[in-house]
Amino acid sequence: MGIFNRRRRSYEDSPTTPRRPLAAAQKGSPARAAHPPGAACRICLSDNGALIQPCACRGASTWVHVDCLKRWAIQKEPRVDCWRRCGVCRTPFSGEGAVDLGEAFLGRALRSKPAFVPAARHALGSALLACGERESAAVHLKASLQAKRRNQGDTADVAAVLNDLGIATGDERLFRDALRIYGALDMLETNDAAFARLNRGNALVRRGLYEHASKEYAQALRALEKVHRGDHADVAKALGNLGVIAEYNGDYEEAVAYHSKALNMQRAVFGKDATTNDIANSLENLGVARGRLGDSEAEGHLLASIAMRRTLPAQTRAAVRTLAKLAALRTKTNMDGAQEAYTAARFLLASENGPWVEKQKAALARAAAAVSSSGRLSSLC
Ligand SMILES: [Zn+2]
Ligand SMILES: [Zn+2]
Repeated sequence: MGIFNRRRRSYEDSPTTPRRPLAAAQKGSPARAAHPPGAACRICLSDNGALIQPCACRGASTWVHVDCLKRWAIQKEPRVDCWRRCGVCRTPFSGEGAVDLGEAFLGRALRSKPAFVPAARHALGSALLACGERESAAVHLKASLQAKRRNQGDTADVAAVLNDLGIATGDERLFRDALRIYGALDMLETNDAAFARLNRGNALVRRGLYEHASKEYAQALRALEKVHRGDHADVAKALGNLGVIAEYNGDYEEAVAYHSKALNMQRAVFGKDATTNDIANSLENLGVARGRLGDSEAEGHLLASIAMRRTLPAQTRAAVRTLAKLAALRTKTNMDGAQEAYTAARFLLASENGPWVEKQKAALARAAAAVSSSGRLSSLC
């Protein structure tokens, strides 16, 4: 349900350690999607070789070579944030290219620039996190946090690592710590602090503390609206989170209003026909909320979300989740359709592995069995 935000990306589901073709990422820019004809690297302007879309920059700045980003980051040293996030849109890099970049930075730091090691571990940890690789991300982020705290004390940079480590570990106290630092630095009205609030809200939701979470989301929304003024992907994210809380609280009309607003904003920002994880999340959330109200448009939203996830990289888990929600919705009226959706979800899982997959397979099998036995019961009656 799009409620787990990174600083700018959202994702779900706990990942496993080793790097493999991305299966768990949430959120974000396509990892190594084939680039469209006419696309060229924003740095060298060539269209040879694999281009990636590592940040929120669009238009002529959408695509770039990983190697060009590496050369760029090296040129910018001793500044080191160019290894971790885009100098223009400030989005932390995501996708597999970002992991390549983080690994290159860490390799370089370990070989010849020991002072950069904490920054390199942060860059790599942040990139792994964006791919859903939480456990390996946490290892690098913990090491980075210790070193940075020792060297710098409580800085905004340390708060940024705390935020990422909080996402990696799910430990709500880390976000609180980050917010304490932003408060002391008079930075609570910044984008980064707002994201620490959203993430803290997510951690509170996982503990069932909806009211508390809702307050964090509302404060984050206020700050983000001030920072961005007008339509923005981050504002849409906060709206979506408030919508999820409204749905949990049974305020379905309110949930629909939040998710519609988020979806319209995302379409205004990314384009009417854009395909992004954020839009897929909004469609899913809107479908669920409309389904609660018995609205006939609900199924269309869920189907659109599923179709979108199928064209995006690293969305298998999210697609399985959305299919399960579609199946649950259909159980009210269309048992065969519900079975179809469960079968499609299990089919998607067949090529996946890991503990999450086994749990999910068992849950889907149970849900499908429940549907078929209730179908049989109703036909008997
Ligand atoms: Zn290039
Ligand atoms: Zn950018």
